Amino acid sequence: MEQILRHALGLFQEYYQIPGQGELNKITLNKMREPRCGLPDLSDQTDRSRNNIWSKKHLTWNFHLADEETMIVTQAAFNLWAGNSSLSFKRVSQNPDTLLSYREGLHTNIDKRITNMCPSPLDGSGGVLAHPSFPNGDKDYVTEVHIDRTESWHVHISRNPPRTHSLLYVIAHEIGHTLGLHHSEHQDTIMFAMTPGEIKFPIRLSLDDILHIRYLYGANYHGSTTTTPPTTTTVATTTTKYINHDPYKLIQRLSFNDFGLPPTARVNTAINTNKGRSFIVYDHIVGEIDDYSTRIMSHRSIDEIFPGIPTGLTTAFRYTDGNLYFVKNHFYYKFNDFTGLVTATGKFDL
Ligand SMILES: [Zn+2]
Ligand SMILES: [Zn+2]
Repeated sequence: MEQILRHALGLFQEYYQIPGQGELNKITLNKMREPRCGLPDLSDQTDRSRNNIWSKKHLTWNFHLADEETMIVTQAAFNLWAGNSSLSFKRVSQNPDTLLSYREGLHTNIDKRITNMCPSPLDGSGGVLAHPSFPNGDKDYVTEVHIDRTESWHVHISRNPPRTHSLLYVIAHEIGHTLGLHHSEHQDTIMFAMTPGEIKFPIRLSLDDILHIRYLYGANYHGSTTTTPPTTTTVATTTTKYINHDPYKLIQRLSFNDFGLPPTARVNTAINTNKGRSFIVYDHIVGEIDDYSTRIMSHRSIDEIFPGIPTGLTTAFRYTDGNLYFVKNHFYYKFNDFTGLVTATGKFDL
């Protein structure tokens, strides 16, 4: 038993880069008490049930017995994901795809089709703030998000005062899981397991979050990848009667303008390389983003950074085989970013 505990502590310390080699120490204990999501950090990658995504792009949600303010916050959290992917979300009162609720201690699921009891009790004030379920690939499935009622929640989209938790931030994280995203190791992402002590406002997805959601569901076909502010068409697809002016501001602030692009630039794609460098490709130019300031720090031609890759790209992504893939219309280019060479090209069937 002690061996198992040591091993688990060792993994936890390795993940958070805390010294201790499996010994319980003060830093480890403090880290464990930090507000966080209830999912384990090291999810079992062999557990196939956790590698599913939705087979549809228009999804519905509801928040069980929520007041208007909670609905506004929840809508704003969904808008963060809708504004950065091909997904759209709508609140419905019956049979939603994602069902959120406040729960406490030992609790049940709301949707009785799953199982009555939720296998993970909530732990009261502090520690776990909420936990989600993943999609199972079935289009009639229901994912649930259980939010610990005993926490002091700030149920507004504004900055949360000290000693309260931002419901918007926590729901935005849990929605990521209900869409099939896992925890990120990067502290500056929404999908990092811990809730930061001081959240940056306005809340936005990090480039890492955006690349992940686009990898699973594709980019926003409404054109939020261009620097043009969202038009009324974009807003109409992501709003319900619950939206007010403030969440709309949130969507506007998520444009690629924020990276310091020229106002007329049309963004083709963004990519994160194996060497941890982030690029935005627009027009014939590749802008490298400084991860700390999230501003473009240099501009080059595509050919200088990715020799052999054409201009006018449709999309680009890093795949699990270790290569970068660039897509232009129906052609793909497989690029090895260690050797800087295109190693294959061919027709791409969508
Ligand atoms: Zn989580
Ligand atoms: Zn639960």
